[in-house]
Amino acid sequence: MENPTSSSDRFVVRAARLFDGVSATIRESPLVLVESGRVVAVDFGGRAPVGAPVVDLGDVTLMPGLIDTHVHLVFDASEDPVASLAARDDDAVIASMKEAATTAVRGGVTTLRDLGDRDYMSLDLRDLPGLPTVVAAGPPITTAAGHCHYLGGAAEPGVEGMRQAVREHAERGVDVIKVMASGGHLTEGTDPARGQFTLEELSAAVDEAHTRGLPVTAHAHAPKSVAMAVQAGVDGLEHVTFWTEDGVDAPAATIQLVGDRRIVVGASAGFVLDGDRELDAEFALRLPGIIDVMQRLHRAGAKLVPGTDAGINPTKPHDVVRHALEQMVALLEMSPFEALLTATSQAAEICGLGHRKGRIAPGYDADFVAVGGRPLTDISQVHDIRAVYVRGSEVLR
Ligand SMILES: [Zn+2]
Repeated sequence: MENPTSSSDRFVVRAARLFDGVSATIRESPLVLVESGRVVAVDFGGRAPVGAPVVDLGDVTLMPGLIDTHVHLVFDASEDPVASLAARDDDAVIASMKEAATTAVRGGVTTLRDLGDRDYMSLDLRDLPGLPTVVAAGPPITTAAGHCHYLGGAAEPGVEGMRQAVREHAERGVDVIKVMASGGHLTEGTDPARGQFTLEELSAAVDEAHTRGLPVTAHAHAPKSVAMAVQAGVDGLEHVTFWTEDGVDAPAATIQLVGDRRIVVGASAGFVLDGDRELDAEFALRLPGIIDVMQRLHRAGAKLVPGTDAGINPTKPHDVVRHALEQMVALLEMSPFEALLTATSQAAEICGLGHRKGRIAPGYDADFVAVGGRPLTDISQVHDIRAVYVRGSEVLR
């Protein structure tokens, strides 16, 4: 990382074009005045305020920094991230998490929501200089031998065990509750096609979390787990693959309910498939079905965001969200504008940071990514990163 400059600096960023995170209209010749890590004014075509140094980024489109609503900083995007994590002591884990966060920020990610760490370690990484803002779930709540139990979030069985687990997370100061409603792929002995909790347990998690002002998002692959999580009143769903023993089976009624309730769907989008990186065979088999599900959810009105699951295997490096945007345009019938909203202002709302993140406007954090060309016309321009600022600090240029 190149020396992040002090976030107390007052300076102006000049660019050729601006996407503000909300409006479909690209505006020319922006001048963005930054003070103490925040945007204080946005002007167009005028003269920079006297006394503030101007950083001229040249022929770029300035956008809000990208936000990934589902990552795992503890996983290192290797072939076996679980074994790799198990081999590290806490100091080594923190170091690798910072490395992952550095990869993310250099790829334009200025805020990330960590939906599963080990022993609450991501909470110590919130707002470190030069790294993305971290929204933290702590260890995901699971069953004793359940999906990702080795991260330290197993609840005692039953409704009271679930309430206790949510209370512990709240007391530790998490920003969101993540619950593993179904089995998953990273855990030997669990099955994505099967549920892990009863409706009563999931409902208790939602009730306990909402009482404490915390949103709940549920990891849910199995059709029954998706339906049960919706019935329990979760705010978000992760994956939502409708995974069965031999394929994908998404009942129209469940799709409609997710849409009608405007539930957030973390699509686990984004893959890098160059070199020897390839999709898991079981996943590849179901991919056409999953893409169809995502299209149906989008049409039904669900709030679809990339939620990449960065870190879980080599196709998911920590800056994979850029690839997700491209794939949402190519596969999910989104315009580049719609896709960019999902990783800026919409993702900020979902992270509970809609007042601070995801837009370039006065009062918002000075989180920027500058890319060449016109990403609202050609989404692949998101890979042409020329500069990144996080809370007013230049981390890449
Ligand atoms: Zn995950």
